[in-house]
Amino acid sequence: MSKAINPDNLTDEEFTALELSEIAGAGHLILTLTKTNDWPSAVAKIRADEKLADKVMDRLDDLEFAVEDIDDNTDIVSAQRKSPKVSVAVCTKCNATAAYAKTIPAKCHMTNSCTGTWQKPASYTIAPKEDEGRISRS
Ligand SMILES: [Zn+2]
Repeated sequence: MSKAINPDNLTDEEFTALELSEIAGAGHLILTLTKTNDWPSAVAKIRADEKLADKVMDRLDDLEFAVEDIDDNTDIVSAQRKSPKVSVAVCTKCNATAAYAKTIPAKCHMTNSCTGTWQKPASYTIAPKEDEGRISRS
């Protein structure tokens, strides 16, 4: 997540949306790392392959994810697919979630007259990058 974002300037809902978009991004990263198309296949592969499990854990660790973060949000990660790609976006105002394939309207359409926008999944690379990491409030 970009360091340009100052978490103290975010509303609680915006912060939650960012956090959940990071979880969604981690979900996509896990599908990529395990070369699977959906969450149940990824979990099955990780359970069956200790080396792969270590690789996934190491990468999540780099990004400062705890397994519990993912476990608490399996509804988000399990809605996502690799190909054709399905992602989950989170509204910055009402924190509704919406699965989408290619595109999603700019504005929240899940809650009546909500003025929030959709926070899309964070994009994480397989290889560690400099200055990556999650947003946090100290
Ligand atoms: Zn909304």
